[in-house]
Amino acid sequence: MTKDDIITLPNPHLRKRSQKVGLITDDVKTIIKDMQGATISWEESRAHEVGVALAAVQIDSLLRIVVIRNNFENKEDHTFTVFINPIITKYEGAIEEDYEGCLSIKDIYGKVPRHTKVKVKALDVKGREFRVTAEGFLARIFQHEIDHTNGIVFIDHIKNNADAFFRLGEDGKLEQLNYDKEIRENSILW
Ligand SMILES: [Zn+2]
Repeated sequence: MTKDDIITLPNPHLRKRSQKVGLITDDVKTIIKDMQGATISWEESRAHEVGVALAAVQIDSLLRIVVIRNNFENKEDHTFTVFINPIITKYEGAIEEDYEGCLSIKDIYGKVPRHTKVKVKALDVKGREFRVTAEGFLARIFQHEIDHTNGIVFIDHIKNNADAFFRLGEDGKLEQLNYDKEIRENSILW
């Protein structure tokens, strides 16, 4: 699979709740492989961005699966950790705002409030339960991706915040968007 298999808004599937994975079949393993391929393909098409993670709904498979890159600093490292049926068991720390983008929302970035620390429980590809405590950027990624499994996209958290929306310019810098003209009644987004 490639970046062209990633669905984007206004595709309504992005606001649907995904189903729990039962048995981890060969079909499920193929979906996981496709998610990783699509993320790397997307990243290779973008000059200033890293494809850090993906949820299965983003390749139009409504299953509760998330993949997260093992190394955000090194684009050559194409390895991922797989989280099947992930849930956040505890939110901790302060709530902080920071920028987020999404492979399924073209060119728009937002300043989204998230908890700085979360505890996550999931299954690995062999069906074994494991737990992770994440802080900072990784905590933000988990909240963003697990939202996807519940049919929530990051813009839904900042819908009414006129100062929260940005566009990535060709020079790689974020420019504030005009909320009234470009966001509030944008039929692609809502
Ligand atoms: Zn996303």
